[in-house]
Amino acid sequence: MAPNQPKLPDTVRVHVAIRGAVQGVGFRPFVYRLAEELGLHGWVNNSAAGVFVEAEGKTAVVRELVRRLENDKPDIASIQSLEATFLDPVGYSEFEIRASTGGEKSALVMPDLATCPQCLNDIFDPANRRYRYPFTNCTNCGPRFSIIAALPYDRAATTMSRFAMCAECTREYHDSSDRRFHAQPNACPACGPQLALWDGDGVEIAQKHEALMATAKAICAGKIVAVKGLGGFHLMVDARSESAIRELRARKRREEKPFALMVPGFEQALHTCSASEVERRLLRSPECPIVLLRRLPGASDIAAAVAPGNPTLGVMLPGTPLHHLLLRELGFPVVATSGNLSEEPICIDEHEAVSRLRGIADIFLIHDRPILRHVDDSVVREVCGRELVLRRARGFAPLPIQVDGELAPVLAVGGHQKNTIAAAIGAQVFISQHIGDLETEGSYQAFQSVIAAFKSLYDLAPKTIACDLHPDYVSTQYAERTGLPLVKVQHHHAHILACMAENHLRPPVLGIAWDGSGLGSDGTVWGGEILHVTHAGFRRVAHLRPFLLPGNAKAVREPRRVALAVLYEVFGDRAFALDVPTLRAFSPAELKHLQTMLRQRLNTPTTTSAGRLFDAFASLLDLRQMASFEGQAAMELEFALAGAKEDNSYPYVIRGEADTLWLDWEPMVRAVLAEPAIDVATASARFHNTLVDMAAHVTTQIGERNVVLSGGCFQNRYLTERMVSRLLGAGYRPYWHQRVPPNDGGIALGQILAAQAASEARKD
Ligand code: ZN
Ligand code: ZN
Ligand code: FE
Repeated sequence: MAPNQPKLPDTVRVHVAIRGAVQGVGFRPFVYRLAEELGLHGWVNNSAAGVFVEAEGKTAVVRELVRRLENDKPDIASIQSLEATFLDPVGYSEFEIRASTGGEKSALVMPDLATCPQCLNDIFDPANRRYRYPFTNCTNCGPRFSIIAALPYDRAATTMSRFAMCAECTREYHDSSDRRFHAQPNACPACGPQLALWDGDGVEIAQKHEALMATAKAICAGKIVAVKGLGGFHLMVDARSESAIRELRARKRREEKPFALMVPGFEQALHTCSASEVERRLLRSPECPIVLLRRLPGASDIAAAVAPGNPTLGVMLPGTPLHHLLLRELGFPVVATSGNLSEEPICIDEHEAVSRLRGIADIFLIHDRPILRHVDDSVVREVCGRELVLRRARGFAPLPIQVDGELAPVLAVGGHQKNTIAAAIGAQVFISQHIGDLETEGSYQAFQSVIAAFKSLYDLAPKTIACDLHPDYVSTQYAERTGLPLVKVQHHHAHILACMAENHLRPPVLGIAWDGSGLGSDGTVWGGEILHVTHAGFRRVAHLRPFLLPGNAKAVREPRRVALAVLYEVFGDRAFALDVPTLRAFSPAELKHLQTMLRQRLNTPTTTSAGRLFDAFASLLDLRQMASFEGQAAMELEFALAGAKEDNSYPYVIRGEADTLWLDWEPMVRAVLAEPAIDVATASARFHNTLVDMAAHVTTQIGERNVVLSGGCFQNRYLTERMVSRLLGAGYRPYWHQRVPPNDGGIALGQILAAQAASEARKD
């Protein structure tokens, strides 16, 4: 898919937020000298919220700056988090050190950070007193967000308060020249947390190093082990063992959704997958996310059941001493998936884990450092040569996104799926860790406790609450019950506003919001929208031609139903006489039933969803008729592109209906039916290309220069990169997500901005 990589503009501005021990260590002069050497213009400053750098110039040079900020930093400085966002240049004429700003006094809660290289040396050095100690950390690494109960961040306000430091640890803690000076979770084998191994019923069977060794042995023997990590439990099995993974899938009731891998080290990751420079940096970053990497053909001993039919693998490195020790002992990759049952929140307490994961895990490797709040693994992929965060959790949460201008105090409760919440404080939006789909009592409780934690950590007293338009979302219902003034935000409008916020864009923009579903202002299910966003709000200028969703939620799990509805839209009752794979996927009785549903519109809403159109095409191409999770068919249509060199599109029509444009996919459906023997890679490429053509066509008609891409469909790398290339080629400026997910994990940020716009409108 390399030919698709867009040629981005030659000059760029980067905004870098750096947190860690970077203040009072000569960091600003270092940045200044570096920028001068590279001939870049911009500024560096220092505030309560961290050190911020902006620099602009040639893209390659700007990237070099970001790389060297990390690699060449002063020895005593330590970077715990570096988030770079690429923006449009603004025309700086020099590089300056700007005066320190006091900034908001809202102290930052740092995210949990992967083990630093020095601590790694400690645990593998037989002469070190922390040799093989799984809870080793220092001021540069270790748990933070997952153990903090209150601010200020002191040991007494963390779950480490129950461990009294020994004399040696106390000495380090008070020695300003020591790496563990004021490291709140400081611990050693003599005084800190310890491991234990429990059997499937929660009965202790081993302790300390023996517990770790017994765990490694169990994994080698194909057992399923629940491991208490930093932000919750993982379930782990040998990633080479087809049977162990099948067993895990059966017990976890997770049929096909890909599992993430934890590999012992960076080199092993490269034996299995190819990784670009951006991806390599991500793998080894303190955030330690799951990085979606392209599998190397035939070079892998990874079992097929890890990610069936998937040319990519989600790979992460060990992020804590415990995981380093375990993986070093094993020497091979393990599946590391959230310790939960399907979409429930991840378990954080060992007693809860034993009751909830009973029958799933054979044994439990636990420890006695309590986890205060769940923090899942983050997920990141590279798109257009930049980072794209797909799930913002461990390593990132709860760091804020910097926006332009002061915001009114608003709490946004997000959407329904992939829920996150967000709070506006000053010019910062704090986005919570990924909470998940609010489908179960457990996830709703997690949602409430995250809100409670945000309120107490940040002394939040929101005057307004922002939520989705959908009355059935439990997040909306929660917002209604607070009794606070409510701003209800249309789902796709929120998507576009979120992407505008992180790109520091002001209206007007043209927003292309493509996803699975969101309630539209007209009461129908939207999802293939093109919105013209102005100061006054938005106007829906175009959308996909509507089709029916027989069975509504059921259609989400059955691409064949959506395809049937698409055929029905084109051919009416004649659709039922077609000889196509979609129809062959049903029994005659099912077809009869669906025909009645479609004719009489029984439990059959109308939708313009782009996500569902992906599903429909996956069925028409006989790639997938039934899905075991939402988005599976769409994902497989993207995977089917592997090796495609097709640059052509299918025919389509853009036509005016009432005061909007319809992106009419009918000619595309007819073309697919006319070529039943076409190979799937070519057909998939044409399908993607056609969607891009249609959006580009509308863009030209509207003529707005800035075009914003958001919604779950833009997790698709090919779609995003082709769209970006196409729009750039036509003289437009495309913007996509970087630090915030394009999926519903970004909705809360957009809701904050909508509430802000509403309050400004009231003032006028
Ligand atoms: Zn460390
Ligand atoms: Zn100690
Ligand atoms: Fe959405």
